[in-house]
Amino acid sequence: MFRRNFGRKKITLSTAQTSISMDVVMALPKKICALCEEEFELKPDKPGFANHCPTCTAFEMEEAAANQGPKDADQIRYEAEVNEARRASMKNLLYRKDS
Ligand SMILES: [Zn+2]
Repeated sequence: MFRRNFGRKKITLSTAQTSISMDVVMALPKKICALCEEEFELKPDKPGFANHCPTCTAFEMEEAAANQGPKDADQIRYEAEVNEARRASMKNLLYRKDS
């Protein structure tokens, strides 16, 4: 009795899964990526923005992951210092030109 019920349940489940995946394939909307303007199929399980293609989303996720690390905060501070030093030397050059 239990065995029969289990078997019946399994069949119902797989049938439901098949119909769901078929619906998904048929309903996939075509979208134009807002970043690279490439056409892509928007999958319901796609991470990130709905108007960004999988390639751009993967790139964005990589960037976001990289920005989360404490190493990058140091990198930003370092770049700010370099920019400031560059600006200071530019100022020196300009002043030298003027005088
Ligand atoms: Zn894209």
